[in-house]
Amino acid sequence: MRLVLLGPPGAGKGTQAARLVRKHGAPQLSTGDMLRAAVAAKTPLGLKAKALMDAGSLVPDDLVIGLIDERLNSPDCARGFILDGFPRTVAQAEALQELLDRRGLSLDAVLELAVDEGALVDRMRKRVDETLAAGGAVRADDNPESFKTRLEAYRAQTAPVSAHYAGRRQLTKIDGMAPIDEVTAAIDRALVDATVSRDE
Ligand code: ADP
Repeated sequence: MRLVLLGPPGAGKGTQAARLVRKHGAPQLSTGDMLRAAVAAKTPLGLKAKALMDAGSLVPDDLVIGLIDERLNSPDCARGFILDGFPRTVAQAEALQELLDRRGLSLDAVLELAVDEGALVDRMRKRVDETLAAGGAVRADDNPESFKTRLEAYRAQTAPVSAHYAGRRQLTKIDGMAPIDEVTAAIDRALVDATVSRDE
């Protein structure tokens, strides 16, 4: 199963990606997680990315494309992958196409979790409260100001990615406002449809 999950910050991509990993045995490729690991390890890439990430801005395309290019070579990706947070710009979507073409692969589906913008800030606050209650560390970009920038980046740079895939008839929209299990069920149905139409 080779999937792309699209949706604004707080749409529930990470939650659904974790379920898809369990169900399909394919790894979740989250550029956000990879970048946070690079920041924590203070690699040259992490040092370049940190300030941009903390502010809620996107990091340059070539950095994340390089991360994904390398990650796709890992043996576990032979079973497919669930891309979460990539591609986030049309240039990244075009680069992904090239990376897949080079490997003779194609995407099974591109799913967009559609969520009312008004709900997103509340979800971010809830995540912060839950993280604090569990004694965890809150993400540096989970604050109202960076979150606003993340939403702006989503609107300006990532919403066009949905249009890009819709234009290629690859996009399926999922109602991300439904309860978590219903979203999972809608994703399962969409994947059955995608697999049927691929095999037709
Ligand atoms: P969320 O989806 O909750 O906004 P992520 O964990 O996916 O957060 O990403 C956190 C940050 O990492 C982004 O705000 C951005 O700075 C950086 N980032 C992650 N993926 C990409 C990407 N594909 N292109 C550019 N920047 C990215």
